[in-house]
Amino acid sequence: MIELRTGLVGTSSGGGERDLVIAGGGPAALAAALYAARYGIGHVVVESWQPGGQAALTAHIENYPGIESITGGDLAVALRKHAAVWGASFDASSVVSTRRAGDRIEVVTDSGVYSARILIIATGAAPSKLGVPGEEELYGRGVSYCATCDAPFFRGKSVMVVGGGDSAVKEALHLAGFVDRLFLVHRRDRLRAEPLLVEKLLSCGKCSVYWKSSLKEIQGVEGVEGVILETPDGTIRVPVDGVFMYVGRTPATDPFRGLIELNQNGTVKTHDIVHTSADNVFAAGDVTDNELRQVVTAVSDGARAAAAAFDLLQRM
Ligand code: NAP
Repeated sequence: MIELRTGLVGTSSGGGERDLVIAGGGPAALAAALYAARYGIGHVVVESWQPGGQAALTAHIENYPGIESITGGDLAVALRKHAAVWGASFDASSVVSTRRAGDRIEVVTDSGVYSARILIIATGAAPSKLGVPGEEELYGRGVSYCATCDAPFFRGKSVMVVGGGDSAVKEALHLAGFVDRLFLVHRRDRLRAEPLLVEKLLSCGKCSVYWKSSLKEIQGVEGVEGVILETPDGTIRVPVDGVFMYVGRTPATDPFRGLIELNQNGTVKTHDIVHTSADNVFAAGDVTDNELRQVVTAVSDGARAAAAAFDLLQRM
């Protein structure tokens, strides 16, 4: 885990009354925290066990305007520090459940209960699992969902990356800096990732792609030894030392079921970007059904949600 908390002020715990509770610790939550702190809203950021969110686990971010290149971890530290400097208050707890209590919202965490007038849901999304044999058994022993964390363990080895989106291709390029041989398996004949990334992957000498193929099984005893792929030419076994899964993300919305409407895929149903189906509840970032999911849109959502909260508090 990347340590983001060191030396930062403004910690809180145990629950209590707040005008605003911000659930989440990624860019959307941190931008909301910065704006809330500057508006002078009495708030707490329930940032969970993993501050920084998925962005903190991204190797390189090259499309955040104004910053040519930065590691996800460094950007997350900068966002959190900026909010803390303005007085943001953090609680390193996870939201377990939420419920309406009169005109307030109760936010139950694993260390207390907050009673809030307004809630911003910015809990992001966690990597999805593929559900193939060997995935769970070999997790942490060659199966990984975080190239940024684990790439150095595969120096000089060979790995398989699964998926065809921005995450798969971006993290495959990061892994290519460490491994001897990189394979990517994708179920279609076209990658959905940003063209610039696709071009880099296809021109990387040590990388090859299995098109129209799917991963059926991960084999190994102490660690990953190989994978079984179903390809257009039949079923094959590819010996690899590691498997990195990037087959999408599952929104972290379980604690909000019943409080707000969710879409079938689990994302928060929104209108006008940050408004949810429920009064006094806003949502921001990857947890929502907004189309573009980038750090820049997450921070924008966070700022909008905090501004909407401020506006609402003026009228309460
Ligand atoms: P994603 O865009 O949803 O891509 C998931 C990939 O996994 C797709 O290629 C999909 O195949 C494949 N997949 C899904 N289920 C599968 C299954 N059961 N078996 C095999 N393959 C499966 O997810 P993501 O790459 O994590 O990105 C999530 C969001 O974050 C996107 O909006 C993305 O743009 C954004 N993001 C942006 C950056 C950036 O730097 N700009 C970096 C990371 C993520 P299909 O293509 O066939 O559907």
